[in-house]
Amino acid sequence: MTYVERVLEDLIRRNPGETEFHQAATEILMTLEPVINAHPEYEKSALLERLCEPERTILFRVPWVDDQGKVHVNKGYRVQFNSAIGPYKGGLRFHPSVNLSVIKFLGLEQILKNSLTGLPIGGGKGGSDFDPKGKSDREIMAFCQSFMTELFRHIGADTDVPAGDIGVGAREIGYLFGQYKRICNEHVGVLTGRGISYGGSLVRKEATGYGLVYITEEAMRLRGDSFQDKITLISGSGNVAIYACEKAQSLGAKVVAMYDSDGYIHDPNGIQLEVIKQIKEVERRRIKEYANRVAGATYHEGCKGIWTIPCDVALPCATQNEIDGESAEILVKNGVKYVAEGANMPSTLQAINTFLQAKQVVYLPAKAANAGGVATSALEMAQSSGRLFWEAEKVDSKLQKIMVNIYHNIDEAAKKYGFEGNYVMGANIAGFEKIANSMMAHGIV
Ligand code: NDP
Repeated sequence: MTYVERVLEDLIRRNPGETEFHQAATEILMTLEPVINAHPEYEKSALLERLCEPERTILFRVPWVDDQGKVHVNKGYRVQFNSAIGPYKGGLRFHPSVNLSVIKFLGLEQILKNSLTGLPIGGGKGGSDFDPKGKSDREIMAFCQSFMTELFRHIGADTDVPAGDIGVGAREIGYLFGQYKRICNEHVGVLTGRGISYGGSLVRKEATGYGLVYITEEAMRLRGDSFQDKITLISGSGNVAIYACEKAQSLGAKVVAMYDSDGYIHDPNGIQLEVIKQIKEVERRRIKEYANRVAGATYHEGCKGIWTIPCDVALPCATQNEIDGESAEILVKNGVKYVAEGANMPSTLQAINTFLQAKQVVYLPAKAANAGGVATSALEMAQSSGRLFWEAEKVDSKLQKIMVNIYHNIDEAAKKYGFEGNYVMGANIAGFEKIANSMMAHGIV
């Protein structure tokens, strides 16, 4: 058994039932074999065991009172996974499916993603099994205030800087920041994705979706191709999906389908994004509404069917494991050319293998493709510490450069180890090398 296989077996045994964490660790560790073989000193210093064990795991109770006066108790999590290259950085997710396994898979991915940005940020992730859907603004505020009343003692502008993720957008970040400021009496960059009027960065809201399109555009450009007239599927209709759609459309793509967790809409004439924004961002209603408002569009219950629509480009932007092996095969059979992941771990291990084996497909994995969000969060941190405010063009052009650099770094790393075109290998290896160097420099900590 190799070192990597032993670490993985041990990880699965010592973290029972954490299936998402096992899945992410398997995907990452199995690709690191060539680097590990080239560096026997990593095994001697138990580098992989240390990488896969969070530096600190914080679990806490979040009590709050609803509008009827009923008391609820949710679980709160913050996993401070790795601070080798900078303060812990990674979003907070509020969704009923959140558990320790989900937070740990996201945290582990985040370490390598943050490294790929080239910026000094470590990896962390947090959240709660609280469901914001259907809650009043007052209930959301009560929950966020209670959550921060415990979290504040563990975070800080130079220690750990959370941001948004599923279920945590501008409104939630506002309430969380307000409570932090009230308790600590400090107006600092302790959260990113803040509103523009109180320390946020222009383009942060759009950054994950725009970045996803920028890296895909670079992959296309190098193949003499572009987004022009590409039939595109985008899953989800939240922050990442909406701004991926906006940028892809501006480059000439024809986005024909999107979804929320109930079902998908298919608009063969091309999605009218302003209608989606009105329904999802302003009215906070279900995507089903779109078919009532736009002639020629249809609504279909359930999400999986979206992947049966023939397309050139697939941008999964909702959640983990939304593309399984079967859906991946259908996409490939229907001729998909580019699959770029806006969501974290949206493809199962079987789906990843299907994409990697299909010679026609360029597959850009999440930790590279969706790194634009956290990269722009790091730009927000830089503005906060410098007490500066950069114009949109400056942030956007930095974001674009970062995404293009990530593409070239993962491409070169894949080539260096003899796996040209395999960006899963490329992303994991390129991200890992910087972390490994830093951890070795710090000694056994
Ligand atoms: P949002 O909460 O804004 O949107 C999430 C979208 O995905 C919604 O349309 C939601 O539908 C849908 N969704 C959530 N869970 C499921 C499910 N189980 N099945 C089907 N659809 C689902 O989140 P974000 O856009 O911020 O995040 C989307 C993905 O992108 C996540 O994987 C996140 O980790 C990743 N990501 C986000 C970043 C960011 O900057 N926000 C940065 C990097 C990655 P509904 O409204 O019905 O719940």
